[in-house]
Parts: sequence; C-alpha cells; structure tokens
Amino acid sequence: MKNAWRITAALAVSLIPLLVLPGRHGEAVAARKAARAKPRPSSIKPPAPERCDPRKFKIILDVGHTSDAQGATSARNDVEFGFNLHLARLIGERLTSAGFAATRVLVTEGNARASLLKRVGTANAAHADFFLSIHHDSVPDKMLEPWEFEGAKSYFSDRFSGHSLFVSERNPRFAASLVFARLLGRELKDKGLHYATQYALPLMGRYRHPLLDKDVGVYRYDGLVVLSQTRSAAVLLEAGSIINRDEEMAMNSPERQELIATAVVAAMRTYCERR
Ligand SMILES: [Zn+2]
Repeated sequence: MKNAWRITAALAVSLIPLLVLPGRHGEAVAARKAARAKPRPSSIKPPAPERCDPRKFKIILDVGHTSDAQGATSARNDVEFGFNLHLARLIGERLTSAGFAATRVLVTEGNARASLLKRVGTANAAHADFFLSIHHDSVPDKMLEPWEFEGAKSYFSDRFSGHSLFVSERNPRFAASLVFARLLGRELKDKGLHYATQYALPLMGRYRHPLLDKDVGVYRYDGLVVLSQTRSAAVLLEAGSIINRDEEMAMNSPERQELIATAVVAAMRTYCERR
C-alpha cells in the first residue's frame, strides 16, 4: 500500500441504504448511523433483498496498482503489481471453479490516482456484489535497510510480516464488508498464517489504523478510495509482505498462493450462504 491509496480530496459518497439482516446488531447500528448521516434521496431505490446465488454473485477481484504505477518494490526488486496480478488471477480461477461464475479479475491502466476512480467506476457500473482488492505489503520508507541482491543495491525490512485486511466505515456496506473480512481472516488464521500487527502500533504514524478484530487482523481504513467509494461490500487484502525477505519467497511459492486462494473461496462460500 502506498500514499496514493489515501484520499486527498473528499468525494461525495452516494449513500445506499444498508441491508439489515435480522439479528445482526452491528449492521443495524451501521444502518441507523447511515440513515442519520444523510436522508436518502427518494429517487434512489433501496436495493432488493439480496440472496446470494454463487453463479450470479458478481465478485470483482481488483488487481492493486497498474503497469504504469506498480506499487511497492520487493526486497528482490520485483514489483507489487506482478504479485497482485498473479494472485488475483489464481483466486479468480479458484472462485470460478467453485461455482462463482460471475467472478471478474479487474486490471486497471493509468496513473495511480486516476486508476482508483476507474476501479470504483467499473465496479459500480457493473453493479458488483463484492469487491476484493488484492495487494502485497511493504513498510514505510524510513524502516528500509539496504542490502545487495544479485549485485544490485536493494532494500528490505524483515521486521514485520503477515497479511492484513482492511475495511472502511464509509462504505455503505460496511457491516457486510466486515463480516467477509472476519471470515477471510479466520480462514487464514486456521491455515496457520498470522496477520501483520504493526498497523496498530504508534510507530506506524499516519499508516496506523484502528484494529477492529484483534483475533484475525481486520483494520479500519476509511481513507482508501476503493473501499469507501464502492457501493458493494469491499475489502482490501494485503496478502503478505514482499519487503520481508523470507515472506517474499513464501509469497512467490505456489503453496502459499494456493493457501490464500483456498481461504478466499472458503470465506466467500460462507459469506454467500449466510446472505
Ligand atoms: Zn498495494
């Protein structure tokens, strides 16, 4: 994740009423909050009660960054965009095989900031049911340490590792987003993976975020355009750190990639069944 992912100007968020599922206190609270925040224009119809049919459930797998603005650089000088593209494609294949036939891998072109609005525009125009953004993590520049890799001056930080999940309270489907993020966090934890704890630490400065679920590692990050501006439920997954030298190797391995893809499929199945 890099600076470009933060909102620099407030953009109008269209308020779509939240789906309130019976017995979900959190969803009801969020819905009331949204209702208080701004009256719903009468021209906007509330969404029909959703039932999740996997064949029709439109999942967008958003490949983080673009070929022009490739995100973080790994400890071995590979670009984040390549990691994101590979993992998103694999997750897409596994979701499709599992019956989620309307899954789409979204690759966006252009510079970083413009691409954020394009992603959101594409997802909203497609009436996506779920938006999952795939990223790989790094650290703030001040934590980088130099080393030499294949004769080239390179940078790493072995201090932190792990995946992390982000949701935005500004997303009109915040509660549903949080449900999925928790399910995915649980799946990853059950597979023996750990989450990145540093985002809760003061040393992260402006990269510090409220930890909503300290068991499975879900953070709140309201400033992310792709989470706050999408009308569907939306979650951003930092699949692992590519600036950590050991974890970069793991993220490159088919075993780890399969593990993550399997976790996403299992979480999506449960999420869908509960709707
Ligand atoms: Zn990123």
